[in-house]
Amino acid sequence: MTAPVKIVLVYQSLLGIYGDQGNSLVLAQRLRWRGIDAEVMVVEPGDPLPADGAIYCMGGGEDNAQTTAVRELTKDGSLFAAVDAGAVVFAVCAGYQICGQTFTIGETDEVREGLGLLDVTTTRGATRAVGEILTRWTRPDGSEYLLSGFENHGGYTHLGPDATPLARVERGIGNAGDGTEGAVQGRVIGTYPHGPVLARNPALADHLLGLALDRELEPLGRVQSVHEGLRRERIAFVRR
Ligand code: GLN
Repeated sequence: MTAPVKIVLVYQSLLGIYGDQGNSLVLAQRLRWRGIDAEVMVVEPGDPLPADGAIYCMGGGEDNAQTTAVRELTKDGSLFAAVDAGAVVFAVCAGYQICGQTFTIGETDEVREGLGLLDVTTTRGATRAVGEILTRWTRPDGSEYLLSGFENHGGYTHLGPDATPLARVERGIGNAGDGTEGAVQGRVIGTYPHGPVLARNPALADHLLGLALDRELEPLGRVQSVHEGLRRERIAFVRR
């Protein structure tokens, strides 16, 4: 029997204030619908993080929680080992910011070291980015897919040469009001939208699963068409 695909939900108590844990449930369920065994492993600070996860999910959180998460993940070390071994990291908002080189916190903009998994830096922006966001993601096959979600962040993220944007902004702020959204570096993907974003954008979920399994996944038929109807409504709403 093959072992279940391990999806690791990292520090939900610190990085889970926007329902982003739903992303890990979406990943597991989309595998199960295809007859592939999956487990979601919930890991809290102080628990050892497994080094053999297929996908690690991190979500949104407050400034101080971000600092604690970096400290605990650095002390633990397994996330770095997992990334070196080819694991996928999917990080939303605060999770995205902590994957970078540095980010700032609080009114005094104290600079904090990130995990260094993405060549990005985050500093406080001119205005807080709050609202629906719609972006255009170019998939590996060259086709375009709209990503929708809700952004809520004060930090603005700037990409260095080793990171590439995940998508182009059609509505909203994204990384820094510069037309880009999110960052990709190897198999580490950071993005701002909540929602949770993988429930709103199943093709992105399947992309992460495809990366983790090293193969393209077959479409989901009827489930897919129900999701597409909901997606159309959501995208039309954002564009109003
Ligand atoms: N503290 C970060 C910011 O405001 C992240 C917020 C979040 O995760 N929503 O930029």
